[in-house]
Amino acid sequence: MLAYLDNAATTPMRPEAVEAMLPYLTERFGNPSGSHALSREAKKAVEEARDVVAAALGAAPGEVVFTGSGTESDNLAVIGAYGARPGAVVCSAVEHHAVLHATEAVGGRRAPVRPDGAVDLDALAAMLDPSVSAVAVMLANNEVGTIQPLADVVALVRARAPQAVVVTDAVQAFPWVDVATAAAGADLVAVSAHKFGGPKGVGALVVRQGVKLAPIIHGGGQERDRRSGTYNVAGIVAMAAAMQATVAGRDATVARVGAQRDRLADGLLAQIDGALETGDRATKVAGNCHLTFEGVEAEALLVLLDGAGVCASAGSACTSGAIEPSHVLEAMGVPRDRGLGALRLSLGPSTTDDEVDVALEAVPEAIARLRAA
Ligand code: PLP
Repeated sequence: MLAYLDNAATTPMRPEAVEAMLPYLTERFGNPSGSHALSREAKKAVEEARDVVAAALGAAPGEVVFTGSGTESDNLAVIGAYGARPGAVVCSAVEHHAVLHATEAVGGRRAPVRPDGAVDLDALAAMLDPSVSAVAVMLANNEVGTIQPLADVVALVRARAPQAVVVTDAVQAFPWVDVATAAAGADLVAVSAHKFGGPKGVGALVVRQGVKLAPIIHGGGQERDRRSGTYNVAGIVAMAAAMQATVAGRDATVARVGAQRDRLADGLLAQIDGALETGDRATKVAGNCHLTFEGVEAEALLVLLDGAGVCASAGSACTSGAIEPSHVLEAMGVPRDRGLGALRLSLGPSTTDDEVDVALEAVPEAIARLRAA
């Protein structure tokens, strides 16, 4: 039996999403930008999907821009905001590389975080002034699950850098948090379909009305010139179906998976000497279980877990293979040896109690073997 506990890396597609996209991969193959019957059919599907995505994100349909990934949404937000109004850019030190590297590409700086992974509001305040053009703080972190105090960030930015736009990467938050409410104050909100049961290679960016954004992809002028490129119709339709299902089941999923996560984390902490939980469980997403172990190398641990049928991650999937502690753990002040022994088990709507049981047995066993070696 395989225990898939890597839902922060990607999720299995929801049946609703697969079913919704199939016709657009087969007989409904039209390009929405044309003018004949097949094009009109495809355009209608894209616009209906836009309505669903807008409602799920608390936006107007005209504020939704479809993109090719969460990474592209983040890049469009940060680099596009800078392009429209060059100035200083600030992001939290625990952003995903899609925001972090985009911020670095425009000469931006990182704001420090506290030991629980939440952005340090005093330090952020000290970095803000009217020259700042964009501030990016994610809604929930991909490694340790910390939910950021976004409303406080927005208030701070409005007071100290009134011209700046607030960017939030809600890629990891969407499965667990009502993004429509939590990100209501942000100007630019990024999501990615494959983190909530949609397909890979499709995302969206909310661009609030009046927010100026320079395109980063130039071409045929789709998405009102904000993102050129032929529509991924099947992907967009499937993303909308996955969003609808996610929102409908979100409260129940948070309660059920949160209880599974608590059982997993508490069970591992009780069984393994020197295990520590990262962050503060009260302010992290329900699916995140992040632990560090003394005297254990995460890379070796992952190999043993893989052999035992447990799919897990040492940090974020995008940096796996790296032997330095992740920039997230470093920014949180986790000591280096602890950071090297970090394990992320991420649960999702499809996680079963049996999968939790498999991990509860496999992880302590693997750690005992590594410590004995
Ligand atoms: N932002 C966060 C917080 C993520 O976790 C990820 C994916 O790991 C991304 C952005 C990138 O999304 P995508 O995989 O769709 O490019």
